Amino acid sequence: MAERKTRLFKGLDLAARINTESRTLAAGLDTPPVCLVLADRDNAGARAYCERQAATAAQAGIDMRIADYAGTANAIHAQIDAIAAAADIDAAAMLLPLPHGCEPVEAALRLGPEKDVDGLHPLNAGRLAIGLPARPPATAMACLLCAEEIFGALRGLDVAIVGASRIVGRPLATLLLDAEATVTLCHVATSDLAAHTRVADLVVTAAGVPGLIGAGHLKPGAVVLDVAVTATPDGLRGDVDLAAVDGHAGLVSHVPDGVGPVTTACLFRNIVEAALARRRAALQATRTAH
Ligand code: NAD
Repeated sequence: MAERKTRLFKGLDLAARINTESRTLAAGLDTPPVCLVLADRDNAGARAYCERQAATAAQAGIDMRIADYAGTANAIHAQIDAIAAAADIDAAAMLLPLPHGCEPVEAALRLGPEKDVDGLHPLNAGRLAIGLPARPPATAMACLLCAEEIFGALRGLDVAIVGASRIVGRPLATLLLDAEATVTLCHVATSDLAAHTRVADLVVTAAGVPGLIGAGHLKPGAVVLDVAVTATPDGLRGDVDLAAVDGHAGLVSHVPDGVGPVTTACLFRNIVEAALARRRAALQATRTAH
């Protein structure tokens, strides 16, 4: 195989460092943080992903459990209400897409801000939007941390984001603006995508369209964080056409070992922080009652 000229970025070391911090934080608790992950029993790929995540959660000192979504939308809402009330569950994460009839924000509203580790509850999303300390969606936070790992300070950097979803592109735009980068947010209706991405120092792509980003989308030496993970007959693919950008891009993140492991580590950190906050609040409530 010909040697690749463009460097590949893997997030495994960064993820390990975040997991070490999380483990240290979790060690301050009397029992490990408990996170329940709801998954669709008919989505084998998502289920397998979830099981791999649960297996590595222990590295960050987390007790991660997986449950099937209850059948109907009403039953799922009742299930989430029960999780919200459960004293022995610190956090819950819901694998997307939610089953038919359920909306992510409705689910987050039922769960409440304390146990929401996906950053979707309006209070958590609002805190991020107005610049208060927040628990941002893990993928967006992971992109920010990967960018800082590669560039150091992001002040003045020109960034194009491809994909404007509420869990990736939009919260990432806020995080990057707070880091004083200049951000262009592109989406499926952007009329000339290449015109925006070609002037960027950093392109973060999360469209889920394999081969979308070629050499014509990048300025020479540009850095690309490829967030997308699409299952194809040839295996998992990102948005970047690696063969086309080789020798033109300066650095491209590996799929799935680039942003992926950092996203998992950021989710774990959100879980540990949720557990710490919830248990501190419970202790405070007990003290106040006596
Ligand atoms: P989504 O479907 O909610 O959003 C996709 C976004 O891409 C939309 O804003 C859409 O307008 C835009 N888009 C689609 N086609 C486009 C095109 N041709 N040109 C420009 N923009 C286009 O998806 P999502 O949940 O944000 O996930 C996006 C991708 O990221 C998926 O492949 C998903 O598997 C992956 N993902 C990866 C991680 C990770 O940690 N690596 C985490 C979450 C999601």
